[in-house]
Amino acid sequence: MIMSHMNGYVQEASGQAKSHRERAVDCPGEESSLVKSPHCSAHMERIQHYQEELKKRREEDSRGKHDIDPNASLRLKKLSQNPKVGIDNPTFEGKEKATKDTCSQEAVVGELKELVELLQALKWAQHCLTDAQSQQDAELIMQLLSKEDFRNAYTIYSAVSQQMTRVSPTSPLTAQAEDLCQEVQKILQSSQQMEGLELKALLTNPHLQALMQAHDSVAGQEMSEEDVVEYHGETVKLVRLEKARDTPLGATVRNDMDSVVVSRVVKGGAAERSGLLSEGDEILEINGISIRGKHVNEVHDLLQQMQGTLTFLLIPSSQIKPAPHRQTVMHVRAYFDYDPSDDPFLPCRELGLSFQKGDILHVISQDDPSWWQAYRDGDEDNQPLAGLIPGKSFQQQRETLKKTITDRSREHQGKLWYAKKNIKKRKKSTSTLSRTTDYDDILTYEEMSLYHQPANRKRPIALIGPTNSGHDELRRRLLSIEPEKFAVAVPHTTRNSRIHELNGREYHFVSRPAFETDLAAGKFIESGEYEKNLYGTSTDSVRHIINSGRICLLCLHTRSLQILRSSNLKPYVIFIAPPSQERLRTLLATEGKTPKPEELKEVIEKAREMEQNFGHFFDATIVNMDPDQAFHELRRLIDKLDTEPQWVPTSWLC
Ligand code: 5GP
Repeated sequence: MIMSHMNGYVQEASGQAKSHRERAVDCPGEESSLVKSPHCSAHMERIQHYQEELKKRREEDSRGKHDIDPNASLRLKKLSQNPKVGIDNPTFEGKEKATKDTCSQEAVVGELKELVELLQALKWAQHCLTDAQSQQDAELIMQLLSKEDFRNAYTIYSAVSQQMTRVSPTSPLTAQAEDLCQEVQKILQSSQQMEGLELKALLTNPHLQALMQAHDSVAGQEMSEEDVVEYHGETVKLVRLEKARDTPLGATVRNDMDSVVVSRVVKGGAAERSGLLSEGDEILEINGISIRGKHVNEVHDLLQQMQGTLTFLLIPSSQIKPAPHRQTVMHVRAYFDYDPSDDPFLPCRELGLSFQKGDILHVISQDDPSWWQAYRDGDEDNQPLAGLIPGKSFQQQRETLKKTITDRSREHQGKLWYAKKNIKKRKKSTSTLSRTTDYDDILTYEEMSLYHQPANRKRPIALIGPTNSGHDELRRRLLSIEPEKFAVAVPHTTRNSRIHELNGREYHFVSRPAFETDLAAGKFIESGEYEKNLYGTSTDSVRHIINSGRICLLCLHTRSLQILRSSNLKPYVIFIAPPSQERLRTLLATEGKTPKPEELKEVIEKAREMEQNFGHFFDATIVNMDPDQAFHELRRLIDKLDTEPQWVPTSWLC
């Protein structure tokens, strides 16, 4: 699939490609390949044969006494054609018409015999009864059992229950009991009769409504069934699915020549839950309507209008179905923005899931390595169907391909020198990323897990933002209000200590060579030089604060994020973003600062750059519109770390 997409891209770029896609059938769709399968001609013959047979049968049917409802399932049609069903053929005494289906006939006779036996038992019971009232009651029951209408109804019941070859004694009649209740309630709205009022009260009872809801969900699963039938030596599958109102079927189809083939079954839809539709199954009929020869769009429109019981006649996929296994959900953080409407490779646009850099996604299926099925964090409850997102390696490959194409076109434009410079630059920056996140070259997704900080080991809070965004002020405020709760790490310096300074209190005073050795060993989260002296914050200093049970506050530059993330300190990163230029000017004025308009613009531009390049590493963002509000928001976020687990890279927990 990767190759076909990739080829598609290259061809499309040269203007030669045609796109063939999947179509979601009643999902809020896959690219079909026009390459003819080796089984195709045999397949065609089978279908043609089947179609002719079907046509013949329909013609016979239309000549005969039955008007076939095109929307009725084949199963029901079979039922309606069964001479034993219906009140025209009651055979109370077991004198049935001869039919080929002797087995089922016997079953019906058996049922009727039961009725005769029941009558005899009642007669016997009546003789045994001594009081007149009881005898009268038994007489009444016998009269009811002997009535023509009752016998007819009993015959139908026997035929239907025999048709339903279920072990379960009670098969659901509908999976839409809730809808039925509502319908009855509507009808009863104007009723003033006592029975009507009583029924209305019953139906509006919340317990009964909950019961109906539970019934429907169980019945929906119960009613989904599959019959594998031999049809002229071919195996066809009769699948019955219950499609409730507002519940998507969740499958995609593609055209393979004249055939309509199930291309993808999406998690969370009725098709997936039933487990009866499989990728590669060819759809011959839906509720008696012939599908072969239809365009996927027609199938889509058709299915959109249908609800209730859907009966599919399928040629099962020849692919061996993998044993059903419980898929483990993988949680990832996206490191790129994704807009399905802008993705020419997406096999089914309707199913694409949009997301933004930094979003947490729950990947529930990687069956198709190119197109994973996922939910956005928080959407699982109100979004029944999973969406399609590009798989990790697919995304990496096409990003690589895109870059190659861009670079080639640059070369083409005679800007070779420029392109080379950029490749070098990019290589430098991505290599830093891959070192810390284990990604090949391009960042796509990072696997995440939930982490709840222990009460005695608080996560350090890293405040990130451009100068003048107010992050330093926020840190100072936290330290002054609750010095026992918050602390800053004691930095290292190579300068000499001053009289009032104590080693380990203001600074760790170290020699330049010692500082440089530690720096080379990656022991510093950040460092800088000031007046020929080196300064820096070591991971050990931060760990010291964590071990003391306090929250370490860090104000960092974005370039420190990489090393901080790989330090095993599990930082919680908050981006302090500046407000609008005008608001920033007002805020700085209250601090006695009078920045020039270009300086204000620079703060905002710097923040935009930081967000663009490092936004996916931020756990939260606070827009500093008002210092008090920003402070309260900061406190809220910090307190939340004690009460709620947070997503962290899974690699941090290994
Ligand atoms: P001083 O030597 O007067 O204490 O600080 C001189 C400069 O070093 C100040 O501008 C201060 O912000 C900076 N400085 C202090 N500690 C650190 C640190 O841990 N890292 C970096 N990069 N600079 C620091």
